[in-house]
Amino acid sequence: MTTSVSFPPSIWTDTAPPRAVAPAATGVIETDVAIIGAGFTGLSAAIEAARRGHTVTVFEGKAVGWGASGRNNGQVIPVLTSAEPDVWVQRYGETGKRVVDLIGNSASILFDLVREFDMEAEAEQTGWFQPAHSPGRVALSQRRVEAWQRHGFPAELLDAGQAADLLGTEFWHGGMFNPTGGHINPLGLARGMAKAAEGLGVTIHENSPVQSFERKGAGWALRTGDATITARALILATNAYTGELVPGLAPRLAKSLIPVTSWQMATEPLGDNLRKTILPGRQAVSDTRGDLRFFRYDARNRLITGGAVVGPHNVAQRVKRKAAGNLAEAFPTLGTPEMTHVWSGYVGMNWDRFPRVHQLGPDGWAWMACNGRGVAFGTAMGRELARAVTGMDPRELALPVTEPKPFPVQGLLRRVAPTYLAWLKRQDLREPKL
Ligand SMILES: Cc1cc2nc3c(=O)[nH]c(=O)nc-3n(C[C@H](O)[C@H](O)[C@H](O)COP(=O)(O)OP(=O)(O)OC[C@H]3O[C@@H](n4cnc5c(N)ncnc54)[C@H](O)[C@@H]3O)c2cc1C
Repeated sequence: MTTSVSFPPSIWTDTAPPRAVAPAATGVIETDVAIIGAGFTGLSAAIEAARRGHTVTVFEGKAVGWGASGRNNGQVIPVLTSAEPDVWVQRYGETGKRVVDLIGNSASILFDLVREFDMEAEAEQTGWFQPAHSPGRVALSQRRVEAWQRHGFPAELLDAGQAADLLGTEFWHGGMFNPTGGHINPLGLARGMAKAAEGLGVTIHENSPVQSFERKGAGWALRTGDATITARALILATNAYTGELVPGLAPRLAKSLIPVTSWQMATEPLGDNLRKTILPGRQAVSDTRGDLRFFRYDARNRLITGGAVVGPHNVAQRVKRKAAGNLAEAFPTLGTPEMTHVWSGYVGMNWDRFPRVHQLGPDGWAWMACNGRGVAFGTAMGRELARAVTGMDPRELALPVTEPKPFPVQGLLRRVAPTYLAWLKRQDLREPKL
């Protein structure tokens, strides 16, 4: 039986190609690879495992793209927030080098997938730019560019003049440009990936929250409300939404990150004359602030942006004012834009902002904590996890396995997390020591 799923409204629910909800799981199901969660990680894993000749079943508690994957800003970024390439290598040696390669290639992995399956994802591989918000940050950008170039990736340092040409404003001071990045309609991409997976024979069950999973005999046993499932291999792809639909699911993993609410919004479409002067090359942009400023165009020439505010009251209104004010400050010709859509989702954060990979048991894997950069990385990591459960040696993959480290007072930290923004804002005013 097909039922609808209530989807948090956003510009993406208005613009992504529609998808008929797949039937919920019922009865006894046997599959080779069971995947929990139909975001970029789960769907990319499903595509890869199916390509490698395995039967794959995806169990999604709500709908394809319902979690972070259908709600994000859609910036395809081949770099993580503060997990720098050299530190991956220091921490994990050869595996670290493979992770660096995975991150550096992640945007291309995503865009190649879109092109291969001709997905209706409004993909634009126009590059990703990280403008420096202070002169001291340009030195930081330079260091990042040098590191990525040393690892063989095409990052470039833009000076203040080049940055002004790219952005259409002199508000920033230069910065790092990554030509393989860009942007997509994220819900369109999630639905496109689901269609591609189904075309390869993957079964997706929506409205099917997994209540429990455990190692049983030589495989995995899962349970939803109406189905019992046995699988040889398991990929848990619930990320920041682990424990959100079924409290108590994988508690150690759920508590290994802090789900922080991130707000997104869309302006009215810009007129053509204005659009040609603001970000004329249509790159995706997120600057060097901790209190991040970010924006990109969608296919209808709306600017998609967002932000965060401290304090629990009237958040949507305040964050809307703040994001509109930020755009007006950087682009005076735009004025203060009206926001037509405002929505939010959870970003999984941890202390050092390094994503973590966990082995749940034989042929059982998960990754956690995107720290705000999981569109490209989740797509690439999903593929890697699928390879680990379909015959490739996990020790030869980009899988830096660690034990989950639950935050001891995660509930309290979740409540106070928004005040972290105040600290980030103070840091933004200081020049970094290099
Ligand atoms: C507002 C926002 C803006 C962002 N902007 C960007 C950006 O511009 N660029 C970038 O790189 N990253 C961005 N991110 C991060 C990025 O969206 C995520 O890292 C990425 O989408 C994670 O994908 P995922 O598949 O791992 O998890 P998700 O997409 O969150 O998928 C997890 C899925 O698991 C399902 N689930 C949970 N529990 C169960 C259960 N018990 N049974 C079955 N299913 C279950 C959920 O319903 C959900 O669909 C943003 C995130 C947010 C929230």
